[in-house]
Amino acid sequence: MVKIDIRKAYDSVEWIFLQMVLIEFGFPMKMVNWIMTCVSTVSYTLLINGGLTTRFQAKKGLRQGDSMSSYLFVLSMEYLNRSLKKLNANLDSNYHPRCSKLNLIHICFTDDLLLCCRADKISILLMLQAFNHFSEVSGLKANMEKSSLHIAGVSNEFKQQIIQEMGFATGEIPFRYLSVPLSSRKITVHQCLPLVEKMITRLLPRLWVKWIHYFYIKQKTISDCHIPKQASWLVWKILEFQKVEWKKVVLVQTIIPRHQFILWLAIQNRLATVDRLQKWGIQVDKRCILCTTGRDETLEHMLFECTYSQHMWKSILSWLSIQRRIGNWQEEVQWVASKVSTRPWTHILGFLFAATVYHIWGERNARRF
Ligand SMILES: [Zn+2]
Repeated sequence: MVKIDIRKAYDSVEWIFLQMVLIEFGFPMKMVNWIMTCVSTVSYTLLINGGLTTRFQAKKGLRQGDSMSSYLFVLSMEYLNRSLKKLNANLDSNYHPRCSKLNLIHICFTDDLLLCCRADKISILLMLQAFNHFSEVSGLKANMEKSSLHIAGVSNEFKQQIIQEMGFATGEIPFRYLSVPLSSRKITVHQCLPLVEKMITRLLPRLWVKWIHYFYIKQKTISDCHIPKQASWLVWKILEFQKVEWKKVVLVQTIIPRHQFILWLAIQNRLATVDRLQKWGIQVDKRCILCTTGRDETLEHMLFECTYSQHMWKSILSWLSIQRRIGNWQEEVQWVASKVSTRPWTHILGFLFAATVYHIWGERNARRF
C-alpha cells in the first residue's frame, strides 16, 4: 500500500486542468466560465513587518475558505479515480489480495490518498505511473516526506529493493488512515468512531455499503436481511441507515449517479429553490419558472404540484401503464419507496423517478440561468 500526502493540495491545482475537467464532465460552458472567473481572479497581498505589499495575481490553486473549492477539488481528484480504474483492464496489474473482490485500487478522502495493489513490482509500477501522470497534468504532487510505502508478505530483500526503487519512506503495518488503524485484524468500535463520524454524517458511505452488500446482504434485499449478532456496531449502523424507507429509492442500483445525487438532495430538501435562497437573504423572482400559474417556487411545488412536472410524471406513468392520481412530493417518494424491490421492473421505476427529478431540476436551472 502507498499512503500519499498531496503537497499543498489546494494551492497546486492547475487552472487549465480544472477547466478541462469541468468541460469533460459536461458542465455548460457558461457555468465553466463563471467558475473559472471566480477561481482565477484571485490576488494576494502580504503583510510584512506591519506594511502591506502591492497586490499580485495568483497563477494556480483554489481559494482557501471558498465553499466551492472543496467541490472543485473533489472533481479534480475524480480524474485520478478514473485513471486508476483503468488499471482494472490491465492484465499486468494485480489487486491487493484483500481488495480483489471489491475491485479496490485506491481510497481517497479529499487529499488523503491510499493506493493498494499486490506486492509485485509491475503492479506497483503501474499504480505509481497512473499517479505520476495525474501529478503532471493536475499539478498535484506527492509530498515525499509525508508519504510512505507499506509492504507485507514479501521477503525483506524484495521489500528493500522496492522501497529503494520507488523512493518512498518505509511505513509500518498497521498504520492509521483517516484516524483509523488499518489492519487485516478486527478493529474495535472505538477505533472506528472517527471514521464513522466522517462517513455517516458527511458522505454516502459507498465503499462500506459495497463491503456490506458483499459480505452480509449478498443476493437478499435489505429488509429481508438478517443482521448476525456478531456483526460489528458499524455494520448495524449502516444497515439501519439503509432500512430507512426513502433510502430504498436513492439506493436503487440502476440510478445514474448524478441523478442519484440530485434526488438525494431533493429528498433532504436541500435543493437551492427560491424559498431557500430567500432564507439565505438572496433576492430572486419568487414565481415558479416552469408554469404560468404564478405560484411560488418551492421544492413541493416544483417537483410534483407544478403543471409542468405533473405532465412529465403523468407521461412516464402512462408509458409504464400505471394508473394513479399524482400526489405531492412526499406521497410520490413514499409510493416509489413502497414499490421498489428486487424485481427488475421496479428498478426501472426507481431509475425513471430519479431521472424525472433530475431533469425537472435541470430544466428549471436552464430557464433561470
Ligand atoms: Zn410551477
